[in-house]
Amino acid sequence: MHEYSIVQSLLDSCEDVARKNDAKKVSVVHIKIGVNSGVEPQLLRTAFDTFKIDTMCKNALLKIKLQKIKVFCSSCQKESLLKKFEYICPICKSNKIKVTDGEELYLMRVEIE
Ligand SMILES: [Zn+2]
Repeated sequence: MHEYSIVQSLLDSCEDVARKNDAKKVSVVHIKIGVNSGVEPQLLRTAFDTFKIDTMCKNALLKIKLQKIKVFCSSCQKESLLKKFEYICPICKSNKIKVTDGEELYLMRVEIE
């Protein structure tokens, strides 16, 4: 399943951070999920709780922030959030936009002990 492989690499990254900082365990993992990333937050949480058992994250809390789609418009040079899945600039209605956020999953911060 998609979410499982994401969680595996997420846990790897967290353990990397913990090891590099000589931490004993990971307490909180902050991630950001783009609404257009194709990742289901609930499934991701379930997968995280399943796979964290054998890792330094076993008592870690997963904090998820949902990121709306952010675009930069080259016509009016403004950045805005898309409220609908409609790829035009909400300000000037141009279609010369570039997605700058909301399509990926990011590991934002790891709190360690
Ligand atoms: Zn615009």
